[in-house]
Amino acid sequence: MLTIAITGAGPVGLTLARLLLQSSISSQVNITIYEKDASRTSRHSPGGTLDLHPPTGLAAIKKMGLWDEFCKYARFEGEEMRICDLNGTVYIHQTEAPPIEGFEARPEIDRVRLMEVLLESVPNEIIRWDRAVKEVVHEGDRWKLKFEDGSVEGPFDLIVGADGAWSKVRKALTDVEPSYAGICGISGSIDKESAGDKWEHISGMVGKGNNFSYSYGQSAMAQRMGDGTLRCSFYARREREWIEDLKANHDGDDVALKRVLLEKYKDWIADFKQWIVAAKDLWCAPLFELPVGHRFEHKMGLSLCGDAFHLMSPFAGEGVNAGMKDSLDLAATIEKAVTEQTELDSAVKAYEESVFERSVKFMTETLVNKTTMYAQDAPYPFFGVIVGAIAKETGYDLKKGWRSYLPVTRTVYGVCWMVGTFGALRRRITDMLRGKQEAIAV
Ligand SMILES: Cc1cc2nc3c(=O)[nH]c(=O)nc-3n(C[C@H](O)[C@H](O)[C@H](O)COP(=O)(O)OP(=O)(O)OC[C@H]3O[C@@H](n4cnc5c(N)ncnc54)[C@H](O)[C@@H]3O)c2cc1C
Repeated sequence: MLTIAITGAGPVGLTLARLLLQSSISSQVNITIYEKDASRTSRHSPGGTLDLHPPTGLAAIKKMGLWDEFCKYARFEGEEMRICDLNGTVYIHQTEAPPIEGFEARPEIDRVRLMEVLLESVPNEIIRWDRAVKEVVHEGDRWKLKFEDGSVEGPFDLIVGADGAWSKVRKALTDVEPSYAGICGISGSIDKESAGDKWEHISGMVGKGNNFSYSYGQSAMAQRMGDGTLRCSFYARREREWIEDLKANHDGDDVALKRVLLEKYKDWIADFKQWIVAAKDLWCAPLFELPVGHRFEHKMGLSLCGDAFHLMSPFAGEGVNAGMKDSLDLAATIEKAVTEQTELDSAVKAYEESVFERSVKFMTETLVNKTTMYAQDAPYPFFGVIVGAIAKETGYDLKKGWRSYLPVTRTVYGVCWMVGTFGALRRRITDMLRGKQEAIAV
């Protein structure tokens, strides 16, 4: 019997467990998930909404046999998206995805619903709640888990770290730790009650999906949740000390945090300030990431998947998708090695090499998005990135042939700059005609 310990009952750890449990080798593996949360209901933050992508997150859902369960909560209409700026100029309004037959869409699902689907899909007995791993310890040629309470379990044939950003398993593989991503913010939620008579208007700006607004290194973003409420966030490129100070002094103090935000967003149109006024349950959120191209030496008996392997900021929406793809590949790797009775360790090493290669792509995309979304002249540079990404995805290689002489991204930048400048002018004239913008305070 192969003993496998998975640290972390997040989406990635649960996906790996489910895949192994329903594989052809299920009777030959003994799987235990060790999770630091006290119970399946103890997580205090319900989290936002995630869009799952066809080749990664959705492929894992399908392989796990959870498509029907997933579809009960998935929101295909949640693909509606507006990209705007501080003047309220709408540059892109994607209404809904093309007619949707299963996999080509990128449906949204509340994180809490995805977790429910995954938790339901594995027997509760394999999850050991309230077991915070402190470190992995070597014993002979195998590894054990040492917990915060001092107890030790193992040894195991394989320990897979799916314990997220601050993985304890990763510590045994590398000294590299996540660093501050340069972007931080304040997040919260808005509902009918907190928004009062502004609800219809705020809700209309978001539609069924998302409103992502960027200008001068700041963003205001809102996402529709499954219950109709909105998850909002106000991120910016700032020093880490700024958010740490705020966190230390004002976390949980909605009024103080809203005052800070209103000052930072004073140049934005009143609509966004209304988001701030309507927001509740605010918290401070610095973002962290591992360096692009980060690698570690393989060690027999250990591996990683998900954020533990390749933590990224959320600006390409790839984190959970890339992580579920890791689980898909690692489960297939283990199944093949056991079935064919080949050496598990070299198979796991090959899995890690494939993730190193893949994650460079996701992490680079995330970094480019982050840089352009939070550039001083945002949102214009980001549109060039979008056009480039669409061209690439559709197989249209802009680097080849006479078309490579077309300065496509600069043209897109120029057009968007003109649209933005016209929007700013229109706003000035409207403000002038209406008198000065109404003062908004909390
Ligand atoms: C603001 C924000 C928005 C995001 N939006 C998106 C998005 O739209 N799309 C997308 O794809 N991704 C998004 N992400 C990223 C996504 O949330 C992560 O990539 C994903 O949750 C990773 O899953 P995971 O299972 O690897 O890690 P996690 O979800 O972090 O789960 C790790 C689990 O391990 C447990 N754990 C931690 N430490 C220990 C320990 N010492 N011992 C035992 N258990 C432990 C934790 O309690 C948790 O249950 C976003 C992230 C953030 C911060």
